[in-house]
Amino acid sequence: MTTELVAVGTEILLGNIVNTNSAYLAEQCALLGLSVYYQTVVGDNPERMRDVIRTALDRSDVVILTGGLGPTEDDITKEVTAELMGFELVEDAHWKEILEKYLKQYQKNNQAQRRITSNNYKQAMVPKGGIVLDNHNGTAPGLIMEKNGKTAILLPGPPNEMKPMFEESVYPYLRSKQPEIIYSQMVKICGIGESQVADEIKDLIDQQSNPTIAPYAKVGEVHLRITAKAQSEKECKKLIKPVVRELQSRFGKNIFATEESKTLEEAVVDMLKDQNLTLSLAESCTGGMVASRIVNVPGASDAFTHGYVTYSNRAKRKCLGVKKATLKMEGAVSEKCAKEMARGGCFFSKTDLCLAITGLAGPEGGTEKIPVGTVFMACCFNEKTVVREFHFTGNRSKIREQAAAHALAMLRECIMEGVNKKN
Ligand code: ATP
Ligand code: MG
Repeated sequence: MTTELVAVGTEILLGNIVNTNSAYLAEQCALLGLSVYYQTVVGDNPERMRDVIRTALDRSDVVILTGGLGPTEDDITKEVTAELMGFELVEDAHWKEILEKYLKQYQKNNQAQRRITSNNYKQAMVPKGGIVLDNHNGTAPGLIMEKNGKTAILLPGPPNEMKPMFEESVYPYLRSKQPEIIYSQMVKICGIGESQVADEIKDLIDQQSNPTIAPYAKVGEVHLRITAKAQSEKECKKLIKPVVRELQSRFGKNIFATEESKTLEEAVVDMLKDQNLTLSLAESCTGGMVASRIVNVPGASDAFTHGYVTYSNRAKRKCLGVKKATLKMEGAVSEKCAKEMARGGCFFSKTDLCLAITGLAGPEGGTEKIPVGTVFMACCFNEKTVVREFHFTGNRSKIREQAAAHALAMLRECIMEGVNKKN
């Protein structure tokens, strides 16, 4: 079934509000297995709206419109669509009653001096022969008009009305018309670059049909979405399972999550908690970004105890015990400095692990030996310190973001290796 989205509202055209409704609906349609080939935005102008809706109904089976269902003069989506599809608008007694109740309450609460104006009742007018959808969060009902194999679905503009209405009424309606559903699962990878991941699954992607694998590159992570189409969720899961298993055998411990919502920092905190390990961080160029990501995880305090932001040489010396000679001879952006930071972090905080990050985020200060984007990371665990050198590209914030993401990936790896060696 081809589906098309139309967002109505001059304020979207002007850029005053962002069209989040279409983004949400597009995602939902994809989950339902509906093909969305067009999305349009049109202002509150009857001629242009008529044009857009006519075109949409000509080329798509289902057209979902949002906005313009309110009580004011410029809310005309229902009127234009009903006229175009040949539906008469009639008063709905049930909705009139709901409106009356709501408006009386509103009057009592807010503006006792104001009368209920008749245009409010415009919202009780519904297309004769259409489907009326409940709205538990506002006063405009949603509407479905079906004629000659074409369907128009009208939803209110405010997302807090549109989304619950979609979930409650529109999703089941579309689901009943669409025999196959789409179900997907995520496999999240860290510590390997996007191109390497793509290369390693090229054969799988080349022969894919159902399920499909789609890679998405994130900062320091690659996400693979495996999507299956079948009659039920159970069948979809059955199709997906062997693919996930194959990916697990190819990427092994680089996979940090198979749940959509799990973040890299959550995976790290889980590991620390599972192993009963404590963590401290010693950050220079990331300025606390890694600590902030760790603290994003509820319950991080069970594992994370100290976050040092040692930006100056003096701070590196005073807080972490980095040697004066190291800073003088090797510089702050050096393997040796990173190592001493990590060791100092463990020593002063008495944690099992410390990860240290020191680098040059730029834009100034690069040299031939240490260009902008050079970052050294060291992880001290079990009396052993591993150091790694990275070269990131992009502007200052991009370099810092990448450093923070790779720091988490490195931390994860060190925990796994350290724990293995210990056991
Ligand atoms: P109302 O009864 O509030 O007038 P409506 O159905 O007539 O509802 P609009 O008047 O078009 O909807 O929009 C009302 C508000 O809903 C907008 O000011 C905006 O905040 C939000 N909104 C409308 N369309 C969108 C959209 N496509 N994406 C995100 N928000 C939207
Ligand atoms: Mg409106």
